[in-house]
Amino acid sequence: MLKPFWADLHIHSALSPCGSLEMGAPEIVSAVRKAGIDVIGIADHNTCDNFPAISEAAHGDPVVLPCIETQSAEDIHILTVFPDFKTATEYKAWLWEKMLPIKNNVDYFGYQVVLDHCNNILREEETLLIQGSRYEVDQIVSKVQSIGGLAILAHVDRPSFSYPVALGPMPADYPADAFELSWRIDSVQAAMWREKYPGRTFIRSSDSHTLDTISRANCTKMTLEAPTFEEIRKAIREEDGRRISWPWG
Ligand SMILES: [Zn+2]
Ligand SMILES: [Zn+2]
Repeated sequence: MLKPFWADLHIHSALSPCGSLEMGAPEIVSAVRKAGIDVIGIADHNTCDNFPAISEAAHGDPVVLPCIETQSAEDIHILTVFPDFKTATEYKAWLWEKMLPIKNNVDYFGYQVVLDHCNNILREEETLLIQGSRYEVDQIVSKVQSIGGLAILAHVDRPSFSYPVALGPMPADYPADAFELSWRIDSVQAAMWREKYPGRTFIRSSDSHTLDTISRANCTKMTLEAPTFEEIRKAIREEDGRRISWPWG
């Protein structure tokens, strides 16, 4: 039976240098439960290494999907979503073949900590995660799709790290699965995007770096049979009655 579920596919953990250290596994899980969100993506910059911690802490409530906010050579952010952790880690290995061995400067960028489900620190990531991999956006989109993932152009309305800022307006038929809009824009601005790209799928995500932005008001309602990767993929393609509600209602 189809019913509405709330999805926020773009949440950072304490592993992202810009993510607050309050973004630990139990804290994210309880904020998401409190907000009434059914499925989340843990999307740290260029890594998925905190997925196991949050997934274990959640015990299926919410459903947690392994994601990576990939940064391309053009400094474009792509929200990449994977069906399972194995696929995500294989993609990460591919991505890191073209990451530079730049060390994180903790004082400047912040800590990058890999946690377990109780927030014990397993290790610190030494390589700076906020850097562009040497792959171009087109290569990233095509790689992700070839291994069964979803490639969503992140925060296309934002003045930094977005496709339009780096390369100009997206072609109407750009092969990404969807475009993500930030919750920071209002319904009038959002409507302009919809008019500009008729027939394209848009999602809204919180891009949370702190707990206080985790909210239904900042994410997307989807009509699905269950809050799973496969159902979300169908909703993006509007298959079998699955669909994505326009986030600005
Ligand atoms: Zn971003
Ligand atoms: Zn982000």
